[in-house]
Amino acid sequence: MRRICVLKGDGIGPEVIDCSLAILQKVSDKLEFEYADIGYAAFQKHGNYMPDQTFDLMKRSDSCLLGAVASSERGDYSSPVLRFRKELDLFANVRPVKSIAPSTARGPIDVVIVRENSEGMYTQNEIFDDEGVTTLRRVTRRASERIISFAIRWAHENGRRKVCCVHKSNVLKASDGLFLRTFRELMENQKDLVKEEQLVDSAALKLITDPAAFDVIVTLNLYGDILSDVAAGVAGGLGLAPSGNIGPDHSVFEPVHGSAPDIAGKGIANPTAAILAGAMMLRHLGMDDPAARIENAVSEVYASGHLTQDLGGRHGSRSFTEHVLKALSGAAVRR
Ligand code: ATP
Repeated sequence: MRRICVLKGDGIGPEVIDCSLAILQKVSDKLEFEYADIGYAAFQKHGNYMPDQTFDLMKRSDSCLLGAVASSERGDYSSPVLRFRKELDLFANVRPVKSIAPSTARGPIDVVIVRENSEGMYTQNEIFDDEGVTTLRRVTRRASERIISFAIRWAHENGRRKVCCVHKSNVLKASDGLFLRTFRELMENQKDLVKEEQLVDSAALKLITDPAAFDVIVTLNLYGDILSDVAAGVAGGLGLAPSGNIGPDHSVFEPVHGSAPDIAGKGIANPTAAILAGAMMLRHLGMDDPAARIENAVSEVYASGHLTQDLGGRHGSRSFTEHVLKALSGAAVRR
């Protein structure tokens, strides 16, 4: 049995995670789910965005599935996501984006963004003075080596051909320069992988004008955060993009999107990202067959034209999920 910690979270989190759980239960009887509170939902119940019992369960589980956590401007708010990424040492954020839905993009996209998840702009180190605020942005050799090696390994294990380092070393010569130099060194002996480099601004443009040009992108924290939303937009929207936070001992899988308060409670959120996050989690746990079944069923539902409202279709979260369940049962999914 694999023990999964389920963190439904806020906004549309519980709605899309319920869909994902229905699919996971359909493809495997080897998963045991335990539930914990996180985010604003946890704050209301326990007075804490990340209660200790949640953190303990995350540590004891084989993996975690997260819905979404609402961000807050309250003075006492500190992001539980940044906390668990740091304390569970989830140094890699893997964000695959693949065309499965109709989109207005200038070509198909099948890119995996490997984002450094532990430092960069996200160290929350801000120093105030009389005139303003200075934010410290940290880049270390150790974290750069770790994430670039991870991306190289990931490319090998998943049959990818190219790894592109996205940076801004023409301006941030020392910090991004360190990241780029580390990339060049580590790629030197990778004869079966094509080495590419791109400035972050031109990478953003190229993702839109020539999305098929990219294979695996490895990049710093903030760039990866922004570029993965761009890539999701190219593929059709935020409802489609799953992600995994991965470290040596722990992992948390989640949709790239947030809690989407504007559509929460309406039953119209696209659950695809949460369903595919579940499939990513299975792959991470070595359960490739049920993961592939989920991915194929989702593709089949899209190919047959059943779309949620964010993509111009008429389905809500549940009726879309019913079609994925049907596809998993081997029933033809007709329009
Ligand atoms: P948060 O404060 O939690 O980041 P947000 O609304 O600022 O929430 P997102 O949740 O990422 O950020 O949503 C951005 C936009 O994309 C919103 O208009 C939202 O409705 C839409 N959106 C996000 N996820 C989905 C989804 N699964 N299905 C449909 N629309 C979505």
